[in-house]
Amino acid sequence: MISGNLESDRLKMVETQIKARGIENRLVLEALKKVPRHVFVPPDYSDSAYADRPLPIGLGQTISQPYMVAIMTETMNLEGHEKVLEVGTGSGYQAAILAEIVDHVVSLERVPELADAAAERLRELGYANVEIHLGDGSEGYAARAPYDAIVVTAGAPEIPGVLVDQLADGGRLIIPVGNSFQQTLTRVTVRDGERKTEKLEGCVFVPLIGKFGWGECETPD
Ligand code: SAH
Repeated sequence: MISGNLESDRLKMVETQIKARGIENRLVLEALKKVPRHVFVPPDYSDSAYADRPLPIGLGQTISQPYMVAIMTETMNLEGHEKVLEVGTGSGYQAAILAEIVDHVVSLERVPELADAAAERLRELGYANVEIHLGDGSEGYAARAPYDAIVVTAGAPEIPGVLVDQLADGGRLIIPVGNSFQQTLTRVTVRDGERKTEKLEGCVFVPLIGKFGWGECETPD
């Protein structure tokens, strides 16, 4: 049930955490106003669903802070016709935000329980334009490439070249790059075979674990 209270909390979140920090993209703001974030957090945390911070979603993973979802989405410069790849489905919240904006979302998750729960949640909410696949997203998902945009919602030690290779011409990859304590949100844009890399802002994400991320047993430092 979406209570009036939760809806007003959500609108307040958009005003005080998102617009107040300079996010202006109308599609991003509308999507954040619409997606019921409280449905994506564990019941124990639904009171904090609209708080200005990441929250645990179980299995050592987190749903990102709303502002981080907003900045990553705005940075993709989406118009609506795109096919987007997300690496790190987690709760499915970022996938839902993308699904509100673009034509099609492909999202990859390595933890089966999270992938299943997110798929069910998105189905119940009626998002028919999201496909979730289980697997190592550090390798991307070549079967559905090329993508207009790729967003990685876990921290990588470096930019996986294989993800850049799955971008369409004009495509952009948004990825946190750094160590386990902190990363820099980075945007790679590919146009006419040229790659442009921009460092955006500091961030903290759980590690991207996989072939082109951190090793399974490795303690990133
Ligand atoms: N976007 C999510 C938050 C992601 S947390 C949301 O909106 O809720 C990061 C997620 O990335 C975790 O669920 C973690 O299991 C997943 N992950 C880490 N490495 C991965 C990989 N190589 N491939 C796919 N998913 C990965």
